[in-house]
Amino acid sequence: MSYSIAIDGPAGAGKSTIARIVAQKKGCLYVDTGAMYRALALFFLREGLEGTDQAAIEGCCKKAQITLGFENKTQVVYLNGENVNGLIRTQEVGDMASVTSRYPKVRQELVRMQQKIAGDTDVVMDGRDIGTCVLPDATVKIFLTARVDVRAKRRYRELLERKETCSLAAVEEEIRKRDHQDMTRAVSPLRQAKDAVLVDTSDLSIDQAADAILEICRQKGCV
Ligand code: C5P
Repeated sequence: MSYSIAIDGPAGAGKSTIARIVAQKKGCLYVDTGAMYRALALFFLREGLEGTDQAAIEGCCKKAQITLGFENKTQVVYLNGENVNGLIRTQEVGDMASVTSRYPKVRQELVRMQQKIAGDTDVVMDGRDIGTCVLPDATVKIFLTARVDVRAKRRYRELLERKETCSLAAVEEEIRKRDHQDMTRAVSPLRQAKDAVLVDTSDLSIDQAADAILEICRQKGCV
């Protein structure tokens, strides 16, 4: 029987790294839905749009075609046919994604695509609304979180590795802002689904967190 594992949580909780390991160990597809919102955000930035201009953003959505490809089970996101994997991990794009992902027209098509992928194959899918909205009947739902200071330090290290200039205080501020935006928006806010299991990664290594999720999958009969 096919299955889906939904992993939601705030920025910097370790979702993508941990979800990728879980998918590898289970031999299924990993879908990073944040990358889809980021690719659209890159399009809006290139168009010179203000994230707060809902009419302009929603009016422009149809001009951007987001598609996913999987090469050796690694996700590649395309914006109008261009592979943008290497361009979407900046603070600027993340911030634009967080601001624009609150608009219904931005979400509609992406949610439909995510549901189609999960309908066709076994997946681990991570994001903000996977357990609550995209896959309400997911086999396993995880809410992955960590203390804000821990998440900020992780994100700070990541950005330094990518040679982005930033301060830890600014990264923590950005994460707080992003949490607030994602949790208080009207459409599909970030929240723990009633039937999701909470995993706090503050004091766990990546492997420990992945093992905890794999154990929850076993307990739920998802083997
Ligand atoms: O997970 P990541 O940081 O790449 O996501 C970027 C932004 O995309 C998030 O801050 C959130 O606003 C948005 N997002 C969303 N729903 C998802 C995945 C991401 O609204 N399923």
